[in-house]
Amino acid sequence: MLNEEIEKTLIKAGRSDDLVNLVAVTKTKGIDIIKESLKFGVTDIGENRVQELSDKYDELGKDVNFHMIGHLQTNKVRNLIGKTKLIHSLDRMSLAQELNKRSKMLNITTDVLLQVNIAEEKSKHGLKSDEVLQFLEDILDFQNIRIKGLMTMAPLTEDQVLVRNVFRSLFKIKEDIVNRNYKGLNMAYLSMGMTNDYKLAIEEGSNMIRIGSFIFGERNY
Ligand SMILES: *Cc1c(COP(=O)(O)O)cnc(C)c1O
Repeated sequence: MLNEEIEKTLIKAGRSDDLVNLVAVTKTKGIDIIKESLKFGVTDIGENRVQELSDKYDELGKDVNFHMIGHLQTNKVRNLIGKTKLIHSLDRMSLAQELNKRSKMLNITTDVLLQVNIAEEKSKHGLKSDEVLQFLEDILDFQNIRIKGLMTMAPLTEDQVLVRNVFRSLFKIKEDIVNRNYKGLNMAYLSMGMTNDYKLAIEEGSNMIRIGSFIFGERNY
């Protein structure tokens, strides 16, 4: 059902040849429910806490790709490193340095997205729009982390114009970066869109959506 909606939205957006990566957000959900979802084709799951991701990694490790989508504390990096396909929430230099250092210790490269707080909400983390370019340039030559794109969260609001503009702004930042042709940089992913706003996000160029409650129902905290 979700797949059909994604397909319809791509066609509506004139992007019928494109693919949208689905990250099924499983925070607070148990292993059994996740295993069930794997039968229906889920390959990638998203978690927002290191402990929970790590526990689930111990159970599911090789069966799934793990995405860290939540705010990441620097002192939790060592428990996370090596377990993720993609970390969506790189938003500051101290975290970049720690990710690079810990990755180097394991002799791996960690793929990351830069999180941008387009709407500059106090409640949310992320770089400001006008900080993205400088930050990217500052960490571009870090050997053990690899920037793969950008991530944002839109404000929780009924105001569709505002939400659309947030996604449009992130797309523009991505395009600007692509046009600068940085050596070795592949901006593969634009991670934007959740249950309430994924259609708008796809219309504005998202190719990675993070969907929780649509798939698993309301979360039980
Ligand atoms: C929880 C969460 C989601 C999924 O939210 P839903 O509205 O349940 O789809 C997506 N992204 C982030 C960063 C989240 O924390």
